[in-house]
Amino acid sequence: MTSSTTPRLVTTPGELRAALKEAGRVGLVPTMGYLHEGHARLIGRARTECDTVVVSVFVNPRQFGPREDLSRYPRDLTRDLGVAGAAGADLIFHPDVDVMYPPGYATNVSVGGVSGPLEGASRPGHFDGVATVVLKLLNLVGPERAYFGEKDWQQLAVVRRMVRDLNVPVEIVGVPTVREDSGLALSSRNSYLTPEERERAGVLSRALRAVQAAAERGERDTALLLQAGLDVLAGEPGVSLDYLAVVDGDMAERARVDNDSMTRVLVAARMFGVRLIDNLPLLPEQTGDGDGA
Ligand code: AMP
Repeated sequence: MTSSTTPRLVTTPGELRAALKEAGRVGLVPTMGYLHEGHARLIGRARTECDTVVVSVFVNPRQFGPREDLSRYPRDLTRDLGVAGAAGADLIFHPDVDVMYPPGYATNVSVGGVSGPLEGASRPGHFDGVATVVLKLLNLVGPERAYFGEKDWQQLAVVRRMVRDLNVPVEIVGVPTVREDSGLALSSRNSYLTPEERERAGVLSRALRAVQAAAERGERDTALLLQAGLDVLAGEPGVSLDYLAVVDGDMAERARVDNDSMTRVLVAARMFGVRLIDNLPLLPEQTGDGDGA
């Protein structure tokens, strides 16, 4: 299948199955829509590696907590079709909520271990929702490869763990984070922020880089590494920090870190009423392709 400017829109599993007959090597890019350059990078990567590129656009209610932003999460399917098409998508799968979770739906996928700390602790049930919808999408599309952003590092670890544990026949590909000039990681939720707030939110990536710089200087004591980041965050009054943590490939925190290539520094903070997350490898030369997760 060749890419066209406007991808084909399908909304049901039956249409999807029919559209994927003789599709060759299929790549899946799961998203919640309101697509930006970060999503486009995933789609572009899939375009280079697969015959048919499927982008799912589904705001998954099961991964939102009761007090989170499900109802106001930004949506613009017309724009998404344009962005996805320009990046090389062939098909957009955009199901209704009751297509994915019809009356009587009763199954939950829960990944132990890596789902527990950090995002898992701050957002109870979030990763169950993610794992459940990702497994459903993998089963519906049957891709050879599925593409996820490193921006959601713990999510990538959860998906890799699930795929290994449940023998899902798919290769999970992690794609590096795309950022604004300020350093802020692109996110659909950035649309809640003004341009000035987005500029100030760049402090999160500067804090991560400060931790990275301390590690490059040879610091291995986690508390001291984190202090370098906390010092940067202290300069921005708009930050309400949820966590700043150095973790290994199993998402476990350690008092001291070694040169393990999976070591990563992660941050989550509320700024201007919006919850933002980001992460970097502790040592910048590491590719951090998530294999140890
Ligand atoms: P979302 O629509 O936010 O659920 O994201 C869909 C996919 O795009 C996930 O795999 C994200 O990790 C990935 N993604 C989101 N933002 C970025 C970014 N700035 N750079 C790279 N990938 C991203």
